[in-house]
Amino acid sequence: MTPPVGRFAPTPSGRMHLGNVFAALIAWLSVKSWGGSLLLRMEDLDTQRTSPELGEVLRQDLLWLGLPWDEETPPQSRRTAAYEQAFGKLQDRGLLYPCYCTRSQLHSVNAPHRSDGTYVYPGTCRGLSDRERAAFQRKPAWRLLVPDREYRVADLGQGEYVQNLSSGCGDFVVRRADGVFVYQLAVTVDDGDFGVTQVVRGVDLLGSAPRQMYLQDLLGYAHPEYGHVPLLTARDGRRLSKRDKDLDLGRLRLTHRPEALVGWLAWQAGLLPRQEAISPRELAEEFSWEKLKKQEICVDLADLLG
Ligand code: GLU
Repeated sequence: MTPPVGRFAPTPSGRMHLGNVFAALIAWLSVKSWGGSLLLRMEDLDTQRTSPELGEVLRQDLLWLGLPWDEETPPQSRRTAAYEQAFGKLQDRGLLYPCYCTRSQLHSVNAPHRSDGTYVYPGTCRGLSDRERAAFQRKPAWRLLVPDREYRVADLGQGEYVQNLSSGCGDFVVRRADGVFVYQLAVTVDDGDFGVTQVVRGVDLLGSAPRQMYLQDLLGYAHPEYGHVPLLTARDGRRLSKRDKDLDLGRLRLTHRPEALVGWLAWQAGLLPRQEAISPRELAEEFSWEKLKKQEICVDLADLLG
């Protein structure tokens, strides 16, 4: 088997919290246990919320954890020309159309909603005539037509996941009205251009994989292997998030050694039979996707924070 090329693609909008640490750890362990390499990419499309300084803190945090990357590829803010080219290819094939729907129209109660609260786009702007388009007198977002086709993800973490793009998602936006390219397009072009063969990330992005696979087909990239890691939740069932300041690395680095944190996460995730301090490098020898829990991991924070 060819060693995988994985990636960790954080959004530098704040300090890493436990959930990000967990996703980074599994991405690292998965490629390293197969002798592969890991790319680092800053996902800074949202220039309002992200900053190069936060990116630098993120790098320091990864190094502190013992998760060095093999190469850093350009941040998304520097990749506009590549996204523009991909957008042009889709446009040339007649697969894009302008969408003038307002936010409130999109979220109206009549729109079919998915279980995660997002909506299936009903195709409102698909058949507009040139005259109707001109009447809006504002810049549109651009949507990609999706086929009535099922995409199957053979996920390393979650098993088989199937989504019909038409009924489960609908035509999706690839470029916003302000000209900014959206995550789905950027991530596909970046992973494709830099030869990523294994995508490991949080399970909240599992539903994005079919859109990305469809874009890969259209843009001539091979499908990578996917592995979506379960979310960490607190005992009360709430998902850990960036709002939990006591769980970000700014706080945890003051009280914990990296090996203690890594060992605790690995134990909670089913990778170790007991709690012990361990480095990612040592843990790579023990790692397998079979051991990793599939469902939400309810963590005992009292145990961590003592
Ligand atoms: N940038 C995304 C995040 O920080 C991850 C995207 C991905 O891994 O595809 O959640």
